[in-house]
Amino acid sequence: MESTFPVDAIINSTKELFKGSSSAPFSLHEPWFEDTQAWANVKDCLDTGWVSSGGKWVNDFEKKICEYTGAKFAIAVTNGTVALRLALHLVGVRDNDEVIIPPLSFVATANAIKHLGAHPHFVDIESNSLGMCPELLSHWLDNVAEKTSKGVFNKSTQRRISAVLPVHVFGHPARIERLNAICSEWGLPVVEDAAEALGSFVGKTHCGRFGKVGIFSFNGNKIITAGGGGALITDDPDLALRAKHLSTTAKIPHPWNFFHDEIAWNDRMPNLNAALVVAQLADINKRISLKQSLHAIYTKAFAHINEIRVLQPSSRVHWNHWLITMYIDLDDDVEVIQVRDQLLKSLHDQKFMSRPVWQPLHTLPMFTDCPKSCLEICSHYALRLINLPSSPQLVQQIS
Ligand SMILES: *Cc1c(COP(=O)(O)O)cnc(C)c1O
Repeated sequence: MESTFPVDAIINSTKELFKGSSSAPFSLHEPWFEDTQAWANVKDCLDTGWVSSGGKWVNDFEKKICEYTGAKFAIAVTNGTVALRLALHLVGVRDNDEVIIPPLSFVATANAIKHLGAHPHFVDIESNSLGMCPELLSHWLDNVAEKTSKGVFNKSTQRRISAVLPVHVFGHPARIERLNAICSEWGLPVVEDAAEALGSFVGKTHCGRFGKVGIFSFNGNKIITAGGGGALITDDPDLALRAKHLSTTAKIPHPWNFFHDEIAWNDRMPNLNAALVVAQLADINKRISLKQSLHAIYTKAFAHINEIRVLQPSSRVHWNHWLITMYIDLDDDVEVIQVRDQLLKSLHDQKFMSRPVWQPLHTLPMFTDCPKSCLEICSHYALRLINLPSSPQLVQQIS
């Protein structure tokens, strides 16, 4: 059966938006250093020789992340995956434990759990925030988990459930207050994967500050990039000290002695990378407001097409607009796959690098045997979401 889905109308609307621009291809999210001190900061690293771990930009980076997010402590590390692994270790995740995560995330969320020898345990998302569903989490724990003096255990695998790791998908805050409340009833620590959510708030509280620890990524595609980088934030002074210690090979600070008091990691962010982040953090609000305009432009451009809609933020949050997402409103799974692939091909043909959402984690070969709730909401959305090019500088290309 031929689909009547209006691929051509969508392509025409996109073409119309960018008709005056010569800067194709339009990537999903590109680094942007225009009007920043990035060049001067990097030059300072080269001129002074402070290019590696340690240096004034790392200290400045940690201070500015605290100022911007309101967290008491920030620890700079080499990337978001490392930040997740370190955060999970610090809240007590150990070999053969289970960590509850949503199935709709970047693969790093599940990988970091496996890096510690633990196992992802999937609980479905909700349609509004695309984050882990609090009501389902509560219901699911009531059914599968048991609280004992030694912790929370999965009754069917007999493994300990040692943390819950919600994700703020595309920068949209999950319903984190509710998730937090449920986890605290169970005595489960919350680590927030806020890799995509720098600049996103619930009320006045920055994402990553609700749980015991939150993490950010400064990968090349994130709202601000270090080239590669990550950070942990927390209000817990002991946890912050431990994070710094374990990320610097557990070396006891001393002017010349090499004494390390446990096996640890080399996770520290180099000064060069921190210099780049400091430069971009200075204008993060400008970036977010440009992305907000881009979101409004897409929303308007596609408004006349009933079969798709551009996802809107919930009114209770301040969204950083990291990735702008289109939802294909079709019931039939077979038809939607056909239409989506056709649409992606046509968009790519005109150098418009839109992407489907990640393949759900529980369907990847490494995670198919992991424990899971019914994951039908994730399965539904995974087929119907397309991310649109969302770089702030793209606004300047629109005619
Ligand atoms: C980018 C990302 C990560 C990993 O960060 P890296 O810096 O690439 O290691 C983790 N989780 C989510 C949700 C991400 O988007």
